[in-house]
Amino acid sequence: MNNSDALRIETVLNGLRYEKTGKEKDADLIVAVACSVRQSAIDRIYGKVRNWQKEKNKRKLVTVLTGCVLPADKKKFSKVFDLVFNIENLPLLSKMLNNLEEANVKERGEYLKLKSMHSSGFQSLVPIMTGCNNFCAYCAVPFTRGREYSRPIEDIISEVKELVENGCKEITLLGQNVNSYGNDKKDLPNFAELLSKINDVPGDFWIRYITSHPKDMSDELIKKFVQCSKVCGYLHLPLQAGSDQVLKNMNRNYTYEHYKDLIEKVRAEKLDIAISTDIIVGFPGETIEQFEDSMKAFGEIKYDMAYIAQYSPRSGTKAATFDDNVDKKEKKRRLKVLTKILAGTALEKNKKYVGKTEKVLAEKFEKGLLFGHTDSFKLVAISGGSKNYVGQFVMVKIISANPWALEGKCL
Ligand code: SF4
Repeated sequence: MNNSDALRIETVLNGLRYEKTGKEKDADLIVAVACSVRQSAIDRIYGKVRNWQKEKNKRKLVTVLTGCVLPADKKKFSKVFDLVFNIENLPLLSKMLNNLEEANVKERGEYLKLKSMHSSGFQSLVPIMTGCNNFCAYCAVPFTRGREYSRPIEDIISEVKELVENGCKEITLLGQNVNSYGNDKKDLPNFAELLSKINDVPGDFWIRYITSHPKDMSDELIKKFVQCSKVCGYLHLPLQAGSDQVLKNMNRNYTYEHYKDLIEKVRAEKLDIAISTDIIVGFPGETIEQFEDSMKAFGEIKYDMAYIAQYSPRSGTKAATFDDNVDKKEKKRRLKVLTKILAGTALEKNKKYVGKTEKVLAEKFEKGLLFGHTDSFKLVAISGGSKNYVGQFVMVKIISANPWALEGKCL
């Protein structure tokens, strides 16, 4: 979502005749987009802004902060940034830059109507909602982005149509909890129906979506997910912890059994679907036995990929008031243990691709190799291609596999 916000900010700044620069030292204006979960990201912003303040003594520089900024941080950051604004007020950026003070839009979600500078012509991020009602104990989103707001379906469909007509090959639908799309308004379809409508848009393109919440994953969605031919065979379903007690402390509102049951249902519909997850190690109070439940879950689910984070408190969240009693060394150890299990299951999954022919979206060409992903989101390094293939689907014979990637040859 932050990435998508950054692209929208770029669009607005382009309209104000700013040009993007790759180097901070050349910038007249720097906009930082803060993250919702990790305190370390907020700390990095503090570090950066101190340097930018020094730069201001040497040249003209305006610094701006937006994204997920908690009210307490907003106060502090306002002292060191020239402007701090809620991302929903982005349509008023021009006015805010003139006065260097925040202005408020009348209607929530107006900023989602802004066309974003899409990261490439062939891959696009399309927000379908913003905000969240879930209040996971470690996360700042409900405080920084407010409650769930679903974007009107006509806006989403017309953006997707335009993108596909202009050659886009991969649409990623974005939301803090895409599964609850439409729940905030009576006249909107649910997420399963939205997927189906996007699937009906003519053209050869893939549909991905992030992020799903296990408590909102309905049987209807699982079926639709498989029926829609353009929806990729890849599901990212955050588990966050294998222990029911830790899940409860995190306020996740599901049990491991429920999660496992969902995975079984998904695999019953589509056996070869690739599954990845997010998991936090060392959440406050997580005992060795509770961590072992996460190990057990990794062994049972056999993930294709996982994004494993060591817990760090984000001030302003509920979890930041808990005793962060798992020390750094132990968190690191737990991360290593899960990574090792993951490496085993990911290799097992990836080996099944060897000898097969896969459709791959070529994303870049570097040092004589094409790189891209399969619809199951496997990274593939491909020989026998050229930079002319970038942005196209290519058929690739898979010749080898390691836990983190595949190797193949263009056919
Ligand atoms: S579901 Fe939980 S982790 Fe995700 S955005 Fe909402 S509160 Fe944050």
